[in-house]
Amino acid sequence: MTIQENVPLAPLTTLQVGGSARYFAELRREDDVPEAAQFARARDLPLFVLGGGSNLVVADSGWPGLVLRIAIGGITTQSTDAPGKAVLFGVGAGVNWDDFVAQAVVQNCAGVECLSGIPGSVGGTPVQNVGAYGQEVADTIESVRALDLKEDRIVVLPKPACGFRYRTSIFNTTERGRYIILRVNYRLKRGGAPSLKYADLQKYFAEKKTLPSLAEVREAVREIRRSKGMLIVPGDDDCRSAGSFFKNPVLSEAQFKHLAERAESKGLEIPSYPALDAQHKVSAAWLVEHSGFLKGYAVGAAGISHKHALALINRGEAKASDIVGLKDEIQHSVQEAWGILLEPEPVFVGF
Ligand SMILES: Cc1cc2nc3c(=O)[nH]c(=O)nc-3n(C[C@H](O)[C@H](O)[C@H](O)COP(=O)(O)OP(=O)(O)OC[C@H]3O[C@@H](n4cnc5c(N)ncnc54)[C@H](O)[C@@H]3O)c2cc1C
Repeated sequence: MTIQENVPLAPLTTLQVGGSARYFAELRREDDVPEAAQFARARDLPLFVLGGGSNLVVADSGWPGLVLRIAIGGITTQSTDAPGKAVLFGVGAGVNWDDFVAQAVVQNCAGVECLSGIPGSVGGTPVQNVGAYGQEVADTIESVRALDLKEDRIVVLPKPACGFRYRTSIFNTTERGRYIILRVNYRLKRGGAPSLKYADLQKYFAEKKTLPSLAEVREAVREIRRSKGMLIVPGDDDCRSAGSFFKNPVLSEAQFKHLAERAESKGLEIPSYPALDAQHKVSAAWLVEHSGFLKGYAVGAAGISHKHALALINRGEAKASDIVGLKDEIQHSVQEAWGILLEPEPVFVGF
């Protein structure tokens, strides 16, 4: 294990802002992780676990302690050959998420095809229960192997212990900072049908008479994502982001009624999508766009993607403070206009 000093973090994130890590180590072997944690503990350094850096805003002052970049690789499968049978994939936390999805699809295994094209590492996916186009990793995670920093031992957390909900798990709420995820086990279905719950996907395949294959759904998802700036495409400034910057607010009946009345008084109608309605969710993108922020809005080096109202982007030389300034401005305006405080989705590091 090599510990480096003063390593710039911006190039290791998709938003590409922020300062340096005081200490930094990239760990490829599970055995290195307890040793690295001990290095931080012995020096009383705060520890931050970095995956693919696709859901982060790193402060301009950087991180004062140790950043551990988890790069543990390897994908194992355990299955029977019978069609329709479950296949267990054990995947190293450092494996690129989309590489794993590609491999699952090649092996004709259903369950993660709608999550194609999401950037980041496998180890990052349980943290905010990554989801898109009608699937979330909680649907297929069997268990999570992790170093428990509190008990100082390696544990295997079965799915119910992970507390998955919308963009939430124990890893980003009640037990934040306690676990370093080493490996994630997913249960997929060989020969299973692709999931086509989302309107965008149904529209894409409307002309097709037969059920699309998993590979066709994967390609469709990647294409839809590309059109929204939600796929990392080198050279496309609209994807220098952390993905959606705000969560879709989950409202009570009374809050929703109040919101609908506000909209009506402005001659507007809250858009209704079955996937959102089922969970009393309101489109954060709609709220942002109806609070004075159109796609392409810019303040200095920070801005909103030309393709997606929820993606805050670094237009070139933005600092973390520029991104945070724009975030504050949007939150303030949405609250003034609609009485709702939007909750950011990315993790703020070193603030
Ligand atoms: C263009 C774009 C599109 C996106 N689209 C989606 C989407 O459709 N749906 C969605 O849910 N998200 C989306 N995201 C957000 C992001 O890709 C996911 O949240 C992703 O899972 C983050 O993984 P990561 O490895 O990059 O984690 P990082 O950004 O490195 O870290 C995020 C958090 O996870 C923790 N973490 C990471 N790895 C570990 C580990 N091994 N052990 C413990 N903690 C860890 C970090 O400490 C941090 O708190 C998008 C982002 C971008 C840039």
